[in-house]
Amino acid sequence: MSIGSIQNVQEMLKNKLPGKGTNIFTVMSKMAQDHGAINLAQGFPDFDGPQALRNRVAWHIANGHNQYAPLAGVAELRNQIAIKVLDLYGCRIDSDREVAVTPGATEAIFCAITAVIHPGDEAIVFDPCYDTYEPSVTLNGGVTKHIAMRYPDFAIDWQQVRDTITDRTRLIILNTPHNPTGCLWSEEDIQALREVVSDRDIHIISDEVYEHIVFGHGRHLSLLRFPDLAARTFVISSFGKTYHTTGWRVGYCIAPPALMEEFLRIHQFVNFSTHTPMQYALADFMRDCPQHHHELGDFYQHKRDLFCELMKPSRFSLAPSDSTYFQLADYSAISNEPDTEFAARLTREQKVAAIPVSVFYDQDPGQSIVRFCFAKHDDTLQEATARLKMV
Ligand code: GLN
Repeated sequence: MSIGSIQNVQEMLKNKLPGKGTNIFTVMSKMAQDHGAINLAQGFPDFDGPQALRNRVAWHIANGHNQYAPLAGVAELRNQIAIKVLDLYGCRIDSDREVAVTPGATEAIFCAITAVIHPGDEAIVFDPCYDTYEPSVTLNGGVTKHIAMRYPDFAIDWQQVRDTITDRTRLIILNTPHNPTGCLWSEEDIQALREVVSDRDIHIISDEVYEHIVFGHGRHLSLLRFPDLAARTFVISSFGKTYHTTGWRVGYCIAPPALMEEFLRIHQFVNFSTHTPMQYALADFMRDCPQHHHELGDFYQHKRDLFCELMKPSRFSLAPSDSTYFQLADYSAISNEPDTEFAARLTREQKVAAIPVSVFYDQDPGQSIVRFCFAKHDDTLQEATARLKMV
């Protein structure tokens, strides 16, 4: 029995996101579950965040922090964010006017896009790009312009960016450290960005949710390091990636006061505020254990190295990722199937799930690449790679 009683309910509905089905993370996680596969697809750790942090959540729930948080977030947490960005990026922000805590970075991305995109406005994104950007632009009546970055170096063609900018361009959305490629923006990219936006009414969203997961001599160039760019930018980050708590859904946005005002005007009608006890707990933990985020790069570098080493005898080809907890693998020596079919077969037959990278492109670039998430126990990585070596 179903609850529908109106005959033409299907016709009454006009899909606002035509062509967009269920997102790839949900699809692959379900497929992994259905086939009993190890899930190296959707990006999340198979281990818990620090015990002390989880204890603080329990403490705050037991001690009366259970009602609405302020619209922009708990003051203690906004303060800790301000202390961190001063320490890491030399950027002094006003925690009362320039920070908002959100239920996940995804909501922050939606609110930032909604704040600046009006019908007919254009937003530039770099493919492979995270799957929430374009739908959020579309829902606001905007048009997304895609610039493709290609395997193996995924460099940005800045001439193409210049050629893509029109009078309607209002927004450039960038992501560094980059999911899924693990690439980092360089000083040259920053300089090129500076040149294309100067003298134009273009805002920037800088998605920096993997800001602490950078390897070797790599350096994360947060836009907060560059005052001229920060003045027009929403910088967005996430606590889920940093504290191994993706299910808590806590992220944040930093923006200059005028942009933040507009951001909050929208955020108040989307979620109003973010759950309270987690915010207090995160504030306590950031104050007491700042070493956690300083050590996160080394923690994940060990896992990247282990994964790449274990994959050496396989027929996949890997260039070690520079950042994030993702590793791309070229399977062209194994098969010429499209990546969506290859990833599905890997899940069914080898019982290891991966993400096909073509889904992050507007135009399929015809590459034979899948993405693995190595935010897993070493044992999980051992078992998964033992299976992948058999392909
Ligand atoms: N950011 C995660 C990834 O890239 C997934 C987030 C989600 O499932 N929406 O895998």
